Amino acid sequence: SREVKPEPSTVDLGGGVTVGGGQLVVMAGPCSVESEAQILETAHAVKAAGATVLRGGAFKPRTSPYSFQGMEEDGLKLLALAREATGLPIVTEVVNPRDVDLVARYADIMQVGARNIQNFALLKMLGQLDKPILLKRGMASTIQEFLMSAEYILAEGNRRVLLCERGIRTFETATRNTLDISAVPVLKEQTHLPIIIDPSHATGHASLVPSMCYAGVAAGCDGLIVEVHPCPEKAASDGPQSLRPAEFAAMMAKLREFAKVA
Ligand code: PEP
Ligand code: MN
Repeated sequence: SREVKPEPSTVDLGGGVTVGGGQLVVMAGPCSVESEAQILETAHAVKAAGATVLRGGAFKPRTSPYSFQGMEEDGLKLLALAREATGLPIVTEVVNPRDVDLVARYADIMQVGARNIQNFALLKMLGQLDKPILLKRGMASTIQEFLMSAEYILAEGNRRVLLCERGIRTFETATRNTLDISAVPVLKEQTHLPIIIDPSHATGHASLVPSMCYAGVAAGCDGLIVEVHPCPEKAASDGPQSLRPAEFAAMMAKLREFAKVA
């Protein structure tokens, strides 16, 4: 908390990227890794537009067991290939505690998904790891519960935790979730940890993503995580909320007018 550590924390993400130090860190890439061509094309495009971290899911926590579940280790290998090709550090989700070691062999940043926010066994394992953790707020977590989940990681000794607001469930159906923009200043008051906004899962619609990125920056977030796909119509997951590379580049250009971006 701020009481224990008044100064904001900066977190080293690897590849020379630091979050929390004043420069906006933009993480971008597809929801799921689908093929070598898809991840390489996306990685090059988001890098050219100014992203400094590549996202991509290899283990996918899907609502339906019949939906695409991810390429698993083959997907992790493709992410490593994309890192080699671009120099971008990689953020990817670990869903199951038994896969922590496997995912850690490839990932620079370990993502905990919204559905695993209170998987305390997983959080404790990640607390023993020497890697930054991107912790997503659960779709029904209060801020206090969110912070207690972060505490599970910190208490084990891993101080490199990033908090990600990705929308919460409300009565509203126009958007997939409701981006709790006030979570940014509330978290800033209560904690020293860097705060990331995920406008893709928050809104569920690509057309709404740029505005919510700008809003996140205005509210004081330290970074963004945005889904980008070379052909959203054909995406294996979350196509409707994925920006095309050209749309992402246009958004980055606009962000540069008021934020310090790479
Ligand atoms: C994702 O990042 O693709 C994802 C599944 O996110 P969340 O856990 O926020 O739903
Ligand atoms: Mn997704």
